[in-house]
Amino acid sequence: MFDNEEAILDRTEVMLTQLAAVADGVKVLAEAYRRGYREQRRLVRLSDRMQADLQKANKRLGEQQRDLQTLNAALSGEIETSARLEAELRRLADTDPLTGALARRRFLEVCARDWRRRSGRTACLLMLDIDRFKLVNDSHGHAAGDAALVGFVAACRSALRSLDTVGRLGGEEFAVLLVETDVEDGAAVAERIRAAVAATPVATETGPIGITVSIGLAAAGPEESLEAAMRRADAALYAAKHGGRNRVHRAPPSPEAAP
Ligand code: GH3
Ligand code: MG
Ligand code: MG
Repeated sequence: MFDNEEAILDRTEVMLTQLAAVADGVKVLAEAYRRGYREQRRLVRLSDRMQADLQKANKRLGEQQRDLQTLNAALSGEIETSARLEAELRRLADTDPLTGALARRRFLEVCARDWRRRSGRTACLLMLDIDRFKLVNDSHGHAAGDAALVGFVAACRSALRSLDTVGRLGGEEFAVLLVETDVEDGAAVAERIRAAVAATPVATETGPIGITVSIGLAAAGPEESLEAAMRRADAALYAAKHGGRNRVHRAPPSPEAAP
């Protein structure tokens, strides 16, 4: 064998060894690539699943939001209805159903409120009691008595300002609060009520009935309590009855009033 041939064989040997190393490197690379490719596919599948889950969750959220909106609308409807009912119940509790006058409890509340707001002005309190009302019921029947009570309050209102308050204290007894009214003006209003009631016969099934009213008037200065003024107006009503009915009686000034 020539030297030259020997050298070529050696180089070939080296080259073959190097080729085997390259082939091993390619194998390692291919394995790494395969692993990377598998991981990538796994991640793509995972992301697809996550997206599908997200879409499902979004859809569910949308449905829940719509359900909530429906629920909210129903709830606010309920709240509105119950607020309306509550206001209606309060109105019914505050108002005498027969005459439309304020019910006793509400009248006393409104009186107490307006009394506190007087800010130094005189107010007048009227106590009114229909005369011989038992006789009206006995002679014409209870329905005619009811109609007379309705007509009575209407006649009172015709003589009052809108800011004056009429309350039904019970039966055929009523009270009126005249805010910012001195004794002379209060007496004039009371007289207007008395005259309007006497001049307005109440139409009933059995024909018109004439009724009259007795009125006690107390004018109260800023110092007097509502309770004290009511007691004086009551005493004045009693005096009007004993004085012959169908009249206005003024209570003497409060002993606490400044001379
Ligand atoms: P006086 O002049 O002294 O006030 O005599 P009066 O008959 O009005 O007084 P009394 O207190 O004896 O009678 C009141 C009557 O009012 C008796 C009651 O049957 C009647 N009454 C009370 N509430 C109502 C009501 O809501 N409807 C009717 N129709 N009558 C009522
Ligand atoms: Mg009476
Ligand atoms: Mg009475």
